[in-house]
Amino acid sequence: MKTRLLISGLVITILLLTQACTRSLDPEVPCNFVQSSQMQRVSWKQSLPVKLMVHASVPQAYWPSIEEAIKHWNLQMNIKGVKGPTFVVELWGVGGAVAPDQDFNNMIYWMSDDWEPSLANQQARTTIYWTGSRVYEADIRINDRNHDFYTQEDVEALEEDEYKMKVDFQSLIVHELGHVLGLAHNADSGSVMQTELASGVERRVLGKVDTDSVSCEYL
Ligand SMILES: [Zn+2]
Repeated sequence: MKTRLLISGLVITILLLTQACTRSLDPEVPCNFVQSSQMQRVSWKQSLPVKLMVHASVPQAYWPSIEEAIKHWNLQMNIKGVKGPTFVVELWGVGGAVAPDQDFNNMIYWMSDDWEPSLANQQARTTIYWTGSRVYEADIRINDRNHDFYTQEDVEALEEDEYKMKVDFQSLIVHELGHVLGLAHNADSGSVMQTELASGVERRVLGKVDTDSVSCEYL
């Protein structure tokens, strides 16, 4: 059987601010995080939990996968010693245009039509906005135009070869939530932050490299 390797992309957006003076900072160990121009780890610092919203464009059949992915991150972060939840969903089914933009809402959008043809192999894309090295917004776009997804409910209901041709939605969200926290891609074979997620592959469980990385910043 032919397995297509698909890419889940990260786009980094940097907010440029005019600063009267810039304090020089000692470079930080990257710990697999995106780094600022001053070599600082880009993260939410002490501002956890990240408050997410799910746009109404995301079909309700996929909401439980989002909940499971969040539960998993929250549990693993608690085990590492982070107090309280890392992610909470404040609102489900938020209305309005499917037009991801910088608006200070951390929104998950379902893109049925609007996706750059040159980036068709991306299954999803997370955009983080930061100033200094502090993230103040993150948006996740799901590429429904070019990809098909499956859920745990599908696994239980469908014939194996039906869902094996699709992308595991929960694994995808686990990965994108890593980007929301500031994690970059990681080539480690145990990492949920690997660049490629093949159809039919479930990578829902954080690797040691992932929990070590986030502990480096958030503990
Ligand atoms: Zn990615």
